[in-house]
Formats: sequence, structure tokens, C-alpha cells
Amino acid sequence: MEKVALLKCTDYDVDLIEKKLLEGFQLLGGEKFLRELIPAGSRVLLKPNLLAGADAGSHIITHFAVFEAVIRIVKEYTNDITFGDSPGVDDSRKVAERGGLIKVAEKYGVKFDDFKECVHVKLENSLLCKSWDIAKAPYEADVVITLPRLKTHGMAYFTGAIKNQFGCISGPRKVAWHTRMPDANNFCKMLLDLNTLVNTSFAILDGIVAMDGNGPRNGDPYKMDTLIMGKSLSAVDSVAVRLIGYDNPLDTPALKEVYDSNWGAVMPKDIEVLGESIENMKAKNFKLVRKGGNFYFISPGATNFLRSLLAPSPVLTKGKCIGCKRCEEVCPEKPKVITMVRNGDKYNPTWNMKNCIRCFCCQELCPVGAIEIKNTKLGKILKIGNN
Ligand code: SF4
Ligand code: SF4
Repeated sequence: MEKVALLKCTDYDVDLIEKKLLEGFQLLGGEKFLRELIPAGSRVLLKPNLLAGADAGSHIITHFAVFEAVIRIVKEYTNDITFGDSPGVDDSRKVAERGGLIKVAEKYGVKFDDFKECVHVKLENSLLCKSWDIAKAPYEADVVITLPRLKTHGMAYFTGAIKNQFGCISGPRKVAWHTRMPDANNFCKMLLDLNTLVNTSFAILDGIVAMDGNGPRNGDPYKMDTLIMGKSLSAVDSVAVRLIGYDNPLDTPALKEVYDSNWGAVMPKDIEVLGESIENMKAKNFKLVRKGGNFYFISPGATNFLRSLLAPSPVLTKGKCIGCKRCEEVCPEKPKVITMVRNGDKYNPTWNMKNCIRCFCCQELCPVGAIEIKNTKLGKILKIGNN
């Protein structure tokens, strides 16, 4: 039985968050638990979500106050703390600076790593992927603590502890993984292998203000007043998805893969929730970017015709587009699915959907939320995982 602490925390006040996290650690086993989690003097790597450049306090990235509260606790056990992430396109140091994390890190003597230095490693007994190039810092750390932000996600429906570790793949190399794993199921299997490789020891999910709607970058802030923590990444994610509206955690692709692969705890009967109850903390009217459903229907072997009938697609809101071309730049397919076409004095993207693998990188990384995911009529009827 995996234990997960579910805590109510109503504000990004560092003292309050620290107090709540210590309550959570107490529920999980107290001082003994913490000493085993962070052996004295061990090299700890903190992995916040630094998706893209956003102001300090933004709901796009892990809040600097959660980051600070975690550092205060970890500091009691070791002084060797590093943090880092690798955003898809932006410079990681600049994202960490703008988001307020560098300032906090400097205050406590925490080092920053941009995850650019990689190691080539093999994963025997993998579910799918044996050969890897991943960031050296998380791979070589003794203890990796992931600090995701609770958000919706176009491809994975939800991003939490498991998805957050995709940042351990350095910058542009992420694009190659999307091309290699064009369907959500294999992509999520790859995420599980990555998490096995990095050996993440603990997850603290920042859901004080979560993101709903057009996540993971352009959704709306949703005040959930929630912190979720535990050793099992899948158990933490399972609690999170049940809070936001997936009553069955298997309605989300990553947790379905966890369950099918017997990778970790997912089902309520295998998870003991300590502290608050899921029932009392459930979010009301949380806008899911994609509803749970029959995502397995659209297999990699599906014909273009079947995909065009069933699969959700990226759709442009023209009035919002600023013509920055980032969607074209991040599209992993060759040739690009997206072409920029002149529209008056601006350029707008158009899609050749025949080649689209539905990775939704274009939706994820559009800086102004001009791309949304829309379902087909038949897809809606058959519940192919979209609103
Ligand atoms: S990324 Fe967004 S704003 Fe930029 S060109 Fe594409 S749709 Fe327009
Ligand atoms: S068009 Fe968008 S969803 Fe389709 S392959 Fe390119 S980035 Fe992915």
C-alpha cells in the first residue's frame, strides 16, 4: 500500500507551506522517514516545472514559495542541493530567474544546473526504451525530488509527477522523442522508463493554484489549495487526477500505462490517502483539457482517414495569433505539419493534418494561447478523450 499525504494549503506563504509540508512528512513517517529519504550529506536534485518563461508567481511554473519551503526542509539533512530543468524552447536559466527561483536558490546556497550536460545510458528491463541521452545532474544525484505544478496537458491530459520528469531530457532532444513515440500510449510508456532511469525518490505537487483549461501553458489559474506528496509518483498523480475530475485514474494515459505495466500504484485500493480526504478536496467545475476516454482507439497504426474522423486536432484562434512562428518551429514532424501563410501584414499557421501525430507541442508552446485542441463530432460521441 502506497502512502500519499494530501494537504490543504490556502496561500503561497513560505512559512505556511513549510509547516504544511512538515505535517505531510509527519503523516508519512516523521523524522525517520525524512532521514531515510535524504541520507545525511547526500546530493539532492530538485526538479521544479520550468515549462517556459513566466513571471514569478505565475501558474505556468512551480511557485518559488513552494520551492523555498522544500529547500528549507531539505537543508536540515544536506547542504548539497542542486536544482534544474530543461524547458522545451526557452533558456532554462532565464526561466528560473524570471520565475523567482534563482533568487531563492542563491539565498540558500542551492546550485543551478541547466541540464545541458548529458550522459548516454542504457536501461535494461525497460518497458520500451533501452538507450537514452539524459541530463547528467538528475541521473547522478543520490536523491531526486520532483516539484511539479498541477496542470492540464494536451497530450497527457494532466501533468504532474510522472510527466514533470520529461524535463530531464535536454532541450531539443525532447522533439526527437515525440517523433519516436507518436501516440500517447507509447509516449507515456517512455515517461515511465525515464522515471525508472532517473529514480525519482519523492514528489511534491504544487496545486495551491493549479491550471485548468488550455494547459499546460495557456490555461487559467484554478485555486485548489492543495499540496500532494509521496514517494510513489503514480500514487501522487492518481490522487491529483481524482481531485480534478477523473474519477477513474485509468482515464488518463500515463496512469493507464502505469497500471498495465504494473509500474506502480494507481488504483484507490492500493493507495492510502493521509491528511485530507479526496472527497472533501475535490475541485468543482475544473475545466479538463481533455476528458478521459478511449484514447487507445487511435493507435499508431490507425489510417489517416480514421484519424481525421476520430482524433482531436490543434485548432487556431486567428485573432489571438501574433505570428511568432513558434508552433512551426516546435512541430517535431519532418516535413513540418505546420506552414506559415501570409494573412495581411502577419503570418498565421496552417496545418497539413495528414502528417500530424497529435503530440500537441504546438498547442503547448504557443506563447499566447492561440491554439486549442478540438474534437471531431464522431470523436465526441465515441469519447476519444476530448471535450
Ligand atoms: S505559436 Fe501561437 S502565436 Fe505563434 S504563430 Fe503559432 S499560433 Fe500564432
Ligand atoms: S502540428 Fe502540432 S500536434 Fe501536429 S505534429 Fe506538429 S506540433 Fe504535433
